[in-house]
Amino acid sequence: CQLYSSAVAGGCERTLVAVKPDGVQRRLVGEIIKRFEQRGFTLVGLKLLQASEGILAEHYHDLRRKPFYPALLRYMAAGPVVAMVWEGHNVVQTSRAMVGDTDSSQAKPGTIRGDLSVHISRNVIHASDSVEGAEREISLWFHSGELISWETSDQSHLFQG
Ligand code: UDP
Ligand code: MG
Repeated sequence: CQLYSSAVAGGCERTLVAVKPDGVQRRLVGEIIKRFEQRGFTLVGLKLLQASEGILAEHYHDLRRKPFYPALLRYMAAGPVVAMVWEGHNVVQTSRAMVGDTDSSQAKPGTIRGDLSVHISRNVIHASDSVEGAEREISLWFHSGELISWETSDQSHLFQG
């Protein structure tokens, strides 16, 4: 998206999105990918993995003193996760808006959590909350060789001028 970044608001960014184990179990992977594709973002990395305790501890390092932290790590290790990197203008902020509030009961209808999640501790999806956080998380979950930069043919139609 670098090519047209001067034509639209928001920088060309990448963010880490993960479908959590409850989302994978509930067959929500396709629904979640569909929402990011339809919003015009570009998939640059994708894998199914069983997250190790090491990667989860690093990922949620800032939350290590929270009372829910041990349960959070057990939940995230309970089954496979689908990790993705999405690219696009302002993708970090926009994907947080698409994901919705952490607490399912507060998440607005139309958001992924507002439509699909059932509880704050089973909230289906992760998305990075800042550009710096996204860079850190992407390098934690992906090797650089697993990410593919590719020219999408719709960019000239989306960002003319
Ligand atoms: N979480 C939880 N209980 C809480 C708060 C958070 O189980 O009271 C879990 C939940 O899975 C959440 C994750 O911890 O998505 C990370 O918390 P954060 O505040 O970063 O929320 P997020 O960025 O995912 O919206
Ligand atoms: Mg967070």
